[in-house]
Amino acid sequence: MSVLIVTATYKNYLCNLILCTHMKAEIIAIGDELLTGQTVDTNSAWIATELNRAGIEVTGISAIPDRAARIIRILENAIRRSQLVLITGGLGPTSDDITKKTLCEFFGTRLVRNQSVLDNISQLLGRRGVALNAANISQADVPESCMVLMNKMGTAPGMWFEKDGAVIVSVPGVPYEMKHIVSDHVIPELQKRGIVTEIIHRNIMTYGLPEAQLAEKLTGFEARLPGEIKLAYLPSSGVIKLRLTARCDDAGKALNLLDQQTAILKATIPELIFAEYEASLEEVIGKELSDRAMTFATAESCTGGNISRLITSVPGSSAYFLGSVTAYSNSIKKTLLGVKEKTINNYGAVSVECAGEMAEGIRILTGCDISVATTGIAGPSGATPGKPVGTVCIAVSSDGGTHSGQFVFGTDRLLNIRRFSIAALDMLRRQIISH
Ligand code: AMP
Ligand code: MG
Repeated sequence: MSVLIVTATYKNYLCNLILCTHMKAEIIAIGDELLTGQTVDTNSAWIATELNRAGIEVTGISAIPDRAARIIRILENAIRRSQLVLITGGLGPTSDDITKKTLCEFFGTRLVRNQSVLDNISQLLGRRGVALNAANISQADVPESCMVLMNKMGTAPGMWFEKDGAVIVSVPGVPYEMKHIVSDHVIPELQKRGIVTEIIHRNIMTYGLPEAQLAEKLTGFEARLPGEIKLAYLPSSGVIKLRLTARCDDAGKALNLLDQQTAILKATIPELIFAEYEASLEEVIGKELSDRAMTFATAESCTGGNISRLITSVPGSSAYFLGSVTAYSNSIKKTLLGVKEKTINNYGAVSVECAGEMAEGIRILTGCDISVATTGIAGPSGATPGKPVGTVCIAVSSDGGTHSGQFVFGTDRLLNIRRFSIAALDMLRRQIISH
């Protein structure tokens, strides 16, 4: 088995190309404190991320108490199902930590003093000016049948066992010690072994349908996916990243399958996809504006400058972004952006008419090619009849005309500001690409 992590650029797609054993892994977090809620099991999440990145599929995560019977039972089951079992926790020098003793029992081995581990402990404690006591010395006693994984960050070493074709690794619970042993010993040891399969991810960015509706639209697509490809939905503030993962014996086949499925996906939901690689709407807009040498400005009421913030978070945005007016009050809407008194009186400040005049106003004020404006009710107060909290009116103006729309999102103020901004960016992107 060899594990090799490569980043490859292929046909403009950035893919993570990971060559590794197709092995299944389970994580077992041991510690009473995990079950009382005193400690959050962050170790398992970190280990799962690292193993997935190395192409190892994590099929289970368990949190169990410091109890020998539970540890043994869960290990017996885990090694039947998985080729790798990673245990974290229960390796401290105090009597409540029983993992090491229990592993000895499980593997039918005994504890033996390991001089290298003892030297490491003496060195570590010496540096801190702490004298070695019996509990510290006992940490140099390790199961005879294990391979010791030296811990340069702490006194409890990691332990690597093999039984019935499975690898069982025990690492301390202290997060920085665990990370050191997994990164510096466990992953490299795994790299030295095994058969190679390949895992390649491709991200397709969508906006316009909530997750459940998108999933419904993609039911047929998902049902016809080849066995080597998996689809994951990763939503965030209205944007849903569709991640296709190919797992094959060779990279060429995986990339071919991804190309084919991406093409089918594009044909299935052409109106929803804004990028076929990992990207934000503001990045895509930056590219589309640059490609067309267009300039852009915003007039923001309810988003309070958040669209400008997103746009200017992209390096190089000065090439296309001219500026913004945060027109929160009606008087600024009127004096700076030229919104008509009549418009506000007849339709209200939260109206597509007002948004349209704001967008036209900022375009004239800055001389930009295309502009976007927002006016809405972020909440929690401010609802009016027919306009609940979460209502936003968005307009995009260019020499091709002014387009506007009204949408309703939720009731959380900050989430609304984020959702309004993303909705405005999506409307803007659609108008830019129609140019
Ligand atoms: P131990 O190896 O059981 O002595 O763990 C020592 C310390 O590491 C505990 O007191 C916790 O603060 C922390 N710890 C243990 N397990 C975890 C875990 N799964 N996630 C995060 N922290 C942990
Ligand atoms: Mg513990």
